[in-house]
Amino acid sequence: MLADVRLSTGHAGVLLAERRGSYPLIDLRILKTSTQQGEVESGTRRKVKRLLSFQRYCHNSRLLRGLVPHTPGSLHLLDDDYLGQAAHMLSKVGTWNFDIFLFDRLTNGNSLVTLMCHLFNVYGLIHHFQLDMVKLHRFLGMVQEDYHSQNPYHNAVHAADVTQAMYCYLKEPKLAEQLSPLDVFLGLMAAAAHDVDHPGVNQPFLIKTRHHLASSTRYTANTSVLESHHWRSTVGMLRESGLLSHLPPNMSQDMEQQLGSLILATDISRQNEFLITFKEHLDNQDLDLQLASHRHFMLQIALKCADICNPCRVWELSRQWSERVCEEFYRQGDLERKFELEISPLCNQQADSVPAIQIGFISYIVEPLFEEWLRFTERSLLTQTMMTHLHKNKARWSLLQYTHASERQTHSQAEEPGPEGGGRRGEDIPNCDLDSWGVLSSFSEWGRGV
Ligand SMILES: [Zn+2]
Repeated sequence: MLADVRLSTGHAGVLLAERRGSYPLIDLRILKTSTQQGEVESGTRRKVKRLLSFQRYCHNSRLLRGLVPHTPGSLHLLDDDYLGQAAHMLSKVGTWNFDIFLFDRLTNGNSLVTLMCHLFNVYGLIHHFQLDMVKLHRFLGMVQEDYHSQNPYHNAVHAADVTQAMYCYLKEPKLAEQLSPLDVFLGLMAAAAHDVDHPGVNQPFLIKTRHHLASSTRYTANTSVLESHHWRSTVGMLRESGLLSHLPPNMSQDMEQQLGSLILATDISRQNEFLITFKEHLDNQDLDLQLASHRHFMLQIALKCADICNPCRVWELSRQWSERVCEEFYRQGDLERKFELEISPLCNQQADSVPAIQIGFISYIVEPLFEEWLRFTERSLLTQTMMTHLHKNKARWSLLQYTHASERQTHSQAEEPGPEGGGRRGEDIPNCDLDSWGVLSSFSEWGRGV
């Protein structure tokens, strides 16, 4: 009974592993009126429910693995040319312009597993921790599969992208010389699993739709609902795969706890808390990377940087991530509109444009963190490259936002011509003010952890 393993409490009082699967994503039935709630379930609905239950069973059952024909992601479907190109890409996995979208296509959707296996080999982690290759593959396969491929942004490619960025940061001279194999292992594992089973909506949405992940019995005001779920799911998969079962219990428990601390640090609402501590360390010049606790803090910061580094990538890659994340926001907004809920900040496609969201994100979240990272790395070549991309991308979004705002104004003037007629170009510029769309204040509130 593999499924039951996920529910085991492991060592009493230490940590409850999470039941894997955030499905059903959203139980929309609770949003319907009370009269509808009282309706007898129709035959069709019952059939659909049975079908969904079966799909969920197939999705999760490891016993069925290999029995389902044409399993998506099978490397056997690829021809040698593709694998050769993927292998060639891996030889340059430490370069900042690594195209994770291309790599994912070349590996037939197996970018996360392939990348992690490669990096574990590069660092000799399999030998160092005496890992069983079958168990490692099994664990990584579970993690990759439990990302939702239908999410435009929070899917396994994002996890692979964050892992690749994390690898680049672990190689920074300031860090690389000090990191232990355990630090590297935890850093890569946390990056790969940090968003696993993400439902594609944010925490406030889960709370207002009374999703089981945010149920009142486990939720308090300061709980990072999603991040806790990502961590507990990871622990569940670690225990189910038995990847660390050969290690002394106190060591595997410590690894689980450290993974939790790293994954929980990715909660964007805790941005200021980390930023203030990071600044203090840099101002006081008191970071001592000989200390395990300081190295752990820097792994948290590195993971946070890796998680939000999209605007620091070359424009072509950066733009794709921007469009994906906004598409995910808009889908949530569409659901909220459909069920007459208040539309969350940044989720209103009519009001929150992609350029405006990106400029807010860069200004309030990305720039403040990466400016400190620049100080920490002592203006390393990689960080300078990232900052150059960041500033160029911000300028490009500003230009696009200006165009977008001008088009909006032209459009509204065409529909409702004012007494003064069309405004001159110079008069349009104040309408580019982001705060008029509430985007900056939304990010500002995120940053304050509101
Ligand atoms: Zn993420």
